[in-house]
Amino acid sequence: MSDLRELYQEVILDHNKRPRNFRALDPPSQKAEGFNPLCGDRITVHLRLKDGVIEDVSFEGSGCAISKASASLMTDALKGRSVGEADALFQEFHRMVTAPVDAPVEIGRLDKLAVFSGVREYPVRVKCASLAWHTLRAALEAKEDVVSTE
Ligand code: ZN
Repeated sequence: MSDLRELYQEVILDHNKRPRNFRALDPPSQKAEGFNPLCGDRITVHLRLKDGVIEDVSFEGSGCAISKASASLMTDALKGRSVGEADALFQEFHRMVTAPVDAPVEIGRLDKLAVFSGVREYPVRVKCASLAWHTLRAALEAKEDVVSTE
């Protein structure tokens, strides 16, 4: 288990240092801004949809390593998925990070996103890990308001 934890740590650090899809989208797209006041994380998720499929997705902003790595891994996981699949993934991710600490992690479709299972032990970090996903939801609904985890 500690090996797994180390591997998870490495993935998060790597995505924090070299975030994937860290840019605005051109041409302009649906977007939403998210804010986690507990930690000060602030991100904007950009989205380009075509026929119900996420053609491209990216993010910008600043925040802690967890929030940045989560947005990076999320955008990687979502490209080419349908809106329905993205929503299912959001549900699975949310279930994982809010599950009891001693519950087994069901990796399922989460794949690399399972690296965030460790945040269950730190309720404040759950907000950091979930921010990108809540912001994605707002972008899918093309809400213009800033979403907040509070
Ligand atoms: Zn944070």
